[in-house]
Amino acid sequence: MFNLILFGPPGAGKGTQSERLLEKYQLAHISTGDLLRAERAAGTQLGVQANEYIAKGELVPDAVVIGMVRNYILEHTDASGFIFDGFPRTVAQAEALDTMLEEFGAGIDAVLGLEVEEDELVKRLLLRGQSSGRADDQSEETIRNRFQEYMNKTLPLQSYYTEQDKYSGVPGMGEIETIFGDLCSQIDQVRS
Ligand code: AMP
Repeated sequence: MFNLILFGPPGAGKGTQSERLLEKYQLAHISTGDLLRAERAAGTQLGVQANEYIAKGELVPDAVVIGMVRNYILEHTDASGFIFDGFPRTVAQAEALDTMLEEFGAGIDAVLGLEVEEDELVKRLLLRGQSSGRADDQSEETIRNRFQEYMNKTLPLQSYYTEQDKYSGVPGMGEIETIFGDLCSQIDQVRS
């Protein structure tokens, strides 16, 4: 199993790069944002409750997200590995993920952080909001809240994984192909 976390703030390009990486490396994709939006679209109780947090730009409670990821992993036990996109976002989620993967005799192999300046992130998210219809990409206030949540709760994971010697930063500005190439070089180093 090869398990990769694509790390970075909202708008860093995690979704775009995940799509390319999972095709190249034949991995399964777990985007907790996509899973939560699918729950909301299906009108489930989980989706309705989660939307209250998403709409404000706040993180959905750990227990909800961890349960969802656990189910996804259990439904994809034949996968040769996973790309985690937008998960984990708190230390509690990271610890829960380590425990889940241990059950399969696996762990996180690499954490690649896409580094992008904040002004560029706001620009990208507002632009994405025009076409995606995502309400949380359309309000600058919600976007700023998401950054606050990222700084307070998610950024500590950078130290969590650096201490385990798993974190590498990758410049996330510029051409999508160049960034993809940088990510692939990092992955190939870890896999070799
Ligand atoms: P994303 O599509 O990854 O930008 O996520 C959109 C929203 O879904 C976030 O702003 C959070 O409200 C929620 N969300 C997604 N992933 C997580 C997570 N791992 N933990 C808590 N909330 C999450």
